[in-house]
Order: sequence, then structure tokens, then C-alpha cells
Amino acid sequence: DQSVCAPLPVLGRDVTVPLVTGGEVTYAALDYAASAPALQRVWDDVAAYAPYYGSVHRGAGYLSQLSTDLFENARKAVAEFLGCRADDQVIFTRSTTDSLNLLARAIPADCQVFVFETEHHASLLPWQDARVTYLNAPRTPQQAVRTLERALADRDPYGPALVCVTGASNVTGELWPVRELAAAAHAHGARIVLDAAQLAPHHPVDIHDLDVDWVAFSGHKLYAPFGCGVLAGRADWLRAAEPYLAGGGASRKVTRRQDGAVDVEWHESAARHEAGSPNVIGAYSIASACKALTEAGWDGLVAREQHLIAKVRAGFAEVPEVKILSLFGDDAPRVGVISFVVEGWNSSHFAAALSAEYGIGVRDGLFCAHPLVRTLLGSDPQTQGECGAPEAAPGEKSLNAIRVSFGAGTPDEHVDRFVTAVG
Ligand code: PMP
Repeated sequence: DQSVCAPLPVLGRDVTVPLVTGGEVTYAALDYAASAPALQRVWDDVAAYAPYYGSVHRGAGYLSQLSTDLFENARKAVAEFLGCRADDQVIFTRSTTDSLNLLARAIPADCQVFVFETEHHASLLPWQDARVTYLNAPRTPQQAVRTLERALADRDPYGPALVCVTGASNVTGELWPVRELAAAAHAHGARIVLDAAQLAPHHPVDIHDLDVDWVAFSGHKLYAPFGCGVLAGRADWLRAAEPYLAGGGASRKVTRRQDGAVDVEWHESAARHEAGSPNVIGAYSIASACKALTEAGWDGLVAREQHLIAKVRAGFAEVPEVKILSLFGDDAPRVGVISFVVEGWNSSHFAAALSAEYGIGVRDGLFCAHPLVRTLLGSDPQTQGECGAPEAAPGEKSLNAIRVSFGAGTPDEHVDRFVTAVG
């Protein structure tokens, strides 16, 4: 297929691992949904910058000024990547988890929050201190919209409200109807934050086009190294909130009062929530990844991923014991994230065998989305272990699943090897 682009060069593509059967094989990293390998281009950009590394903001030296420019330009690059509106803020955080916790601290005190039970724990749990309504798992995208509309129609119409929703599930890879959910939220006077941790590495995310109020994502899933994430979107709630962390960088003016107390004026810019010395390399590498993906071209990247998904689907169709987990149907539009169980197999053993016998790295467990995986497996939450891989008794349903996930750096051979191994 002409439109399918070549895999982008990533770190670790030549790493070999030993097999239990003897010999060794190149490692097939098929756990992109957890962390994707960094793009070679990102690594090269970071290496080129490293000698010029300096502390940002008020350093007077040349290297400090250069680093400050790179840090602020990284913000602009991310704003461009996300199609931010002119008055949106881009805050560098540690991760998606950090971004959503930051937003949870910044929402107005009387805010009502609406979140589907199917969310990753990072978007399910930060709202515990708010008035939160957990919505039941929908079985179609249309049902998701209807469920949200009904819940919003019942809410206190005068208070602030926030909807938190994933763009693509980290378990099923299914795409959620973000534009429609955003329209429903706004029609009822609510705001919406998009957890784009799994969407952004696989699809263009345009904040303006989707009409969402905030977007959160993680660098380490977007082909950049660990330790940096993004929260981008509307400035008003962020400006009005107490700083996420109190400290230097977030404060504009600190004075000692006559009575001995200390007064603080906080910044109103993104710096308000970025106290301490920021992760310049992390921000720089996210910006580099954003540029690399844009330059590679989304059409080719998406076509490549769909081509790999088709290979997995075709392979699975030959193996009746394999059951794909999906909310919206096995053929629903998805990114390169597929969870499944294999009848007669303990999922942990299956994943371990893929590693030991084929050098394939996948993941097994409940994927930090316990309510969703339990719904998909049709198993009773009361009788299960907390996370990881609880053992199913003989004849019982699987208590956990296997997840294969891939992206811009995945060569066909990795997916072919996986399909052969499963078969
Ligand atoms: N949301 C989703 C949909 C995710 O898949 C993940 C990571 N698995 C997160 C949030 C949390 O991301 P991080 O661990 O980088 O904070």
C-alpha cells in the first residue's frame, strides 16, 4: 500500500534478547501503550542540545538563556502540535497522571465531575475530592453520548461541571466519540478534558477542532523519554487556582509582612503550576517528538498502524481460542492497542511465553483500568485480586488479559512474529 509509511527509526530497534529455546532474537517491543521507544530523531536532538544544557529562567549566562529559549519554544511547539487556541496555556508536568491531578486541584470548589467507569485510573481517580458521578460503561459510542447527556441534564445547571474522557482506550484501543462528547458537555454548560495519553501517539489531536477544553498526554508514550507530560487548555481555571506546587518559579513576589507572615503573589502564566527547576530536557524531547510526528505525516502513520491492526485481526481470526476485548465491537475503529484472552491459557503465562520463546514484549494484567477490564471479562469484582495477574481457578473465566500494542516504530516483522506465535 503506497500510503503506508516506513516505520520511524526508534531506539532499541537492534537490541537482542536470549530465548529459552537457545539463541537470541531482536526484541519485539509490542507494549507501546505502556511506554513507546523514543524516536531516534528525539534522541539525536537531545544529544545535540546536551552540551548547551543550563538552568532556565533567570540564569544570566548564555547557556541559561539558550535553555530558557528552548524551554519556551518547546511550549510553542506543543501548542502548535495540539492546535491550541490563542489564550490556551501549555503546562509541562511529569505525566498524564500528573496533568489530571493538577487539573483536579484547579477545578472550582463546587465543580461536578462526570467520568466513565471505563477510564484509566489516571483519569478515573483524581476527582475523589470533588462531587463526582461515575457513568456506566457504554456499549456503543452513541450510548456513551446519550449516557453523558442524561447525566448532565440531571445536574445542577448553575454550577461548574467537568467531563473527563479518554480519546483512545488503553485497554481496547477503541476511539471514543470525543467531538460528540465535547458538544454534549458544552450544550449543558460543562467543560471537558481529554485524556490523550493513548490518542496523541496514534492520531492528530486538535484541541480546537475537537473543541475540548483541556488535553493531557505523556512524553513517554509519544516517543520521547520518561518524566515529562503536558496539560494544555483553558487558562481561566488554572489562573484562578492555587499553584499545584508552592515554590520558586511559581511565585512572582514574596514579602515578609509586619506581623511576620509571608505574602505571595503567584504568576498567572503556566509558570504558576511549574514550581521548581523544570524538566527542560523532557519538554525539549516532547517538542522534538511532536515535530517529528508532524513531519513524518499523520496520513502515512495512521495508514501504517491500520495495516498492522489488520494483520493482527487476520491472524486472530484463524485462532478460535482468541477473544478480543472490546466495548464497541471487535471491528470498532481503534488505535494499535488490542487486549485479548486465549481460552485455556492463563494470560500471565501466555505473555511470559511470548517473551521467553519469541522475544516479544507484551503486557498482561488489568492495565490500571480495573472496572473496565472486569466489565470486559464479565467477571465479579468482589472475588478478584487488586491488580496484576490473579490466578483463575480451573474452569473459571480469565481474571486478566494480554495486551499487544504498537505504533510508529513497529516494523511488520514484529507483528508477523506475534501473529505466528499466537497461532
Ligand atoms: N491515561 C491513559 C489512557 C493511559 O493509558 C495512561 C498510561 N497507561 C495514563 C493515562 C497515565 O499515563 P502516565 O503513566 O504517563 O501518567
